[in-house]
Amino acid sequence: MDIPYELIGEAAVYISLTSLAVLFAAIMLGLYSFKKIIFPTFVLFVLDLMYSPAKWLCRVFSIRSTLIDEIMVEIRNGVYLDDFKKIKDNKILVGPQCMRHPECKARCDPCIGYICQSCGKCDFTRLKKECEKKGYDMFIVPGDSFVRKIVKLRKPNAALGIACFEELNESMHDLSPTLPVQGVALLRDGCFNTAVNVEDVIDRMV
Ligand code: SF4
Repeated sequence: MDIPYELIGEAAVYISLTSLAVLFAAIMLGLYSFKKIIFPTFVLFVLDLMYSPAKWLCRVFSIRSTLIDEIMVEIRNGVYLDDFKKIKDNKILVGPQCMRHPECKARCDPCIGYICQSCGKCDFTRLKKECEKKGYDMFIVPGDSFVRKIVKLRKPNAALGIACFEELNESMHDLSPTLPVQGVALLRDGCFNTAVNVEDVIDRMV
């Protein structure tokens, strides 16, 4: 039997071009979501499915590599905000260990991360105080595997996270099917001496 190479080639080109067009449409709608969120399910579905090609497209056009994550965080924040606000108890705030002061003496628990002593050297002192006022439990984690452990252990009703865009997007993607999520991205990321706009975090702790 002759293999229809020409037909297979045409089908491959057609599928590639269609996928590229769908991805392009999702990115455009995603960019528009910074003004107004429209078709969030479509945008999240396409960007989740074609996350790597979308990041590759950004690299090809010299667009900042976090743009896709920024879009997805923005949309998830919008989509889950109402449900998040309705929940009044058993919420968690999860922040990254890189926001701690370099001289932090907090002990790291293997299940729930660093136990902040409110020493006043970094923003976690203020965030912990706000958490106590607003009924949140605060966790400082060395990585996103801890987020999953904490959720399994504490079974929160909602979660607010602080992280770089990529980690925030990944955690919000993992958690959002089971609980309402919100996220605030770091202003300055990296592995050390990172920072967040504390007022933004407190504003989200509704
Ligand atoms: S406030 Fe908490 S996390 Fe920050 S340096 Fe002090 S003990 Fe460490």
